[in-house]
Amino acid sequence: MKFRASQDRYSQIKYRRVGKSGLLLPEVSLGLWHNFGSDHSFANQRAVLRRAFDLGITHFDLANNYGPPHGQAEINFGEHLRKDFTAYRDEMIISTKAGYDMWDGPYGEWGSRKYLLASLDQSLDRMGLEYVDIFYSHRFDPETPLEETMGALASAVRSGKALYVGISNYDPQQTIRAKQILDSMGIPLLIHQPKYSILEKTPEWGLLETIEDLGIGSIVFSPLAQGLLTDRYLDGKVPKSSRASKGKFLPSAQITEQYLTAARALNAVATSRNQSLAQMAISWVLRQPAVTSALIGASSVKQLEQNYAAIFANPFTMEELRLIDDATKNGLG
Ligand code: NDP
Repeated sequence: MKFRASQDRYSQIKYRRVGKSGLLLPEVSLGLWHNFGSDHSFANQRAVLRRAFDLGITHFDLANNYGPPHGQAEINFGEHLRKDFTAYRDEMIISTKAGYDMWDGPYGEWGSRKYLLASLDQSLDRMGLEYVDIFYSHRFDPETPLEETMGALASAVRSGKALYVGISNYDPQQTIRAKQILDSMGIPLLIHQPKYSILEKTPEWGLLETIEDLGIGSIVFSPLAQGLLTDRYLDGKVPKSSRASKGKFLPSAQITEQYLTAARALNAVATSRNQSLAQMAISWVLRQPAVTSALIGASSVKQLEQNYAAIFANPFTMEELRLIDDATKNGLG
């Protein structure tokens, strides 16, 4: 059936400004790293995307190699766009990235101009788009001059194939240099995409401060630590079809007694706040002014709806924040 987006899709969702730019992003954005490859049904993907858009989630994040196999998430997303979202393209922020392994040979990964610009063309082709809203350098390349990598991002903007550019997995010094180089080319650095969650606090050691100082935005990935910060594994079992059951990106060996003790303590704090653990984990990253959006994954509409509702939570008390820190003091956070 033809998709008609809900009339009240903008009535509840909250948006934040991306740094000092003109762009707003929803507090919760949807990533297509998992759940949108050939291993997930097209019907489920479609239901999740439709529901997300109906909830006012306007931002969808991809990368060249999301799948499986590499490229498949962009192919599938392109199909969903054609089937359901053609009329809504101007209401969507679509991002993609290049930096990790994509194709064989010396030009299929890292940060050369050759790789980045060829990859962007391929991504546009797979999604059937004329431009993406945000194009990222997916990781810092120590072997390529940063001027070359940033020059490729600038070219993407000048050619009209990307409206904005971002960087992902760059440390504070690399971020400062990237911004300086792009500034010198007259191209603004819009956003940083780091990994940040209750179990991954590294951005608190300088990166979030740098992001604020530079006036750029941030969209933080894996705020649920791939599912570890949800009730998925709280009983110590690994459900069939969960990410940990597949093992590749989230080894089930991570479901240790130490993890379970921490997760159950966190769950108790969440319950006292009338939130699920997943909701509290999202609220926790959003408490940072430097964070523009929490970039979640969802394998079902139910997960998506639960996660989205995190944006309506009460602010944290000092005591709750202390309890969250205490719960992860055993080396997990
Ligand atoms: P999350 O930490 O949000 O983990 C998502 C997974 O957790 C889901 O697929 C699901 O797994 C489980 N889950 C989600 N919500 C619930 C819930 N309410 N209850 C129970 N389980 C739940 O994020 P991801 O690791 O998926 O990353 C999100 C996005 O971030 C990616 O899609 C990508 O766009 C981006 N990313 C960027 C990277 C980069 O280098 N720039 C690297 C990694 C991600 P299950 O299958 O078990 O149901």
